[in-house]
Amino acid sequence: MKKYNFNAGPSMLPREVIEATADACLDFEGSGLSLMEISHRAKNFQPVVDKAVELVKELLDLPAGYSVVFLAGGASTEFCRVPYNFLEKKAAYLNTGTWAKKAMKEAKLFGEVVEVASSAEDNYTYIPKNFTIPADADYLHITTNNTIFGTEMRYDLDSPVPLIADMSSDIFSRPVDVSKYNCIYAGAQKNVSMAGVNIVIVKDEALNKVSRQIPTMLDYMTHVKNGSMFNTPPVVPIYCAMKNLEWVKKNGGVEAMAQRAKERADMLYTEIERNKLFRGTAKAEDRSYMNICFVMNDEYKELEADFLQFATERGMVGIKGHRSVGGFRASCYNAQTIEGVQALIQSMKDFEAQH
Ligand code: PMP
Repeated sequence: MKKYNFNAGPSMLPREVIEATADACLDFEGSGLSLMEISHRAKNFQPVVDKAVELVKELLDLPAGYSVVFLAGGASTEFCRVPYNFLEKKAAYLNTGTWAKKAMKEAKLFGEVVEVASSAEDNYTYIPKNFTIPADADYLHITTNNTIFGTEMRYDLDSPVPLIADMSSDIFSRPVDVSKYNCIYAGAQKNVSMAGVNIVIVKDEALNKVSRQIPTMLDYMTHVKNGSMFNTPPVVPIYCAMKNLEWVKKNGGVEAMAQRAKERADMLYTEIERNKLFRGTAKAEDRSYMNICFVMNDEYKELEADFLQFATERGMVGIKGHRSVGGFRASCYNAQTIEGVQALIQSMKDFEAQH
């Protein structure tokens, strides 16, 4: 049976990207060696990193004065690397969910943290608006897509202080005005690659500004200066990222990704609203194109486990919602197909017809 992968991360990748990475793991560019057993300093690996950096710059139309590095440690490590490198006295954080809160917790180890707004009291069903950003903050940290709660900021905020964004679950799904940000970071395992690498985009002139000493591996400057090669980088995830970014480019770049994301999300949200069994959890104006969260309407609550089984038997994978929201979550990153979304919608319709 055909499987439709709605996992929240690690998540679906284009088949050709998986195949190219698998091929390189067996025989890297006809060298007779696996990508897994060559030196990261091998002559034929440097072009992979260079190409990946070039594609990030091209796809997001990076202005001059920004660097791109590939780092290990998961996006969770950036929660700590960000304040280490950028928080001198005070930082502002927008609390839009679990990951935003975790980022804030790390920042508190380094200085004063102002929570400019929070939607915690409503289980993060919306993105707060019209909050005041302290003009003396070193930066404002935002989480552009809230993977667990299914809300998204598909716009670049106007802020009196530089923005820093966790874009782990929506990077490369839309054009971004990078000039507004001092730093953008993302764990790769949703829209970019397999797990194991982060993409970090930093504004060069924002580095080296804090007075504290930064441990070598946590200092972004170390990695910028050494082109992601200060230590052994995760070569296979970087290769996979490079291939996936080539796929994004070949398929029309981030503008086309945004168009496709809207198309998929519109289809699914329309069905959620139409179907008597379901309702969406996020406020319509803030709902995510990447993680589409929905629950059973109250009068059908007892059917939740049945629908999960029904959809699973029809090939849906990974649609169980996160425990903090319950219900269902259909993650639709760049690789998600219209066919997959149609299959899920058909399951919803067929299940409705039975009740
Ligand atoms: N930020 C966001 C928005 C996420 O969705 C996740 C992971 N789901 C993280 C951070 C943490 O990423 P990692 O597991 O790579 O540390």
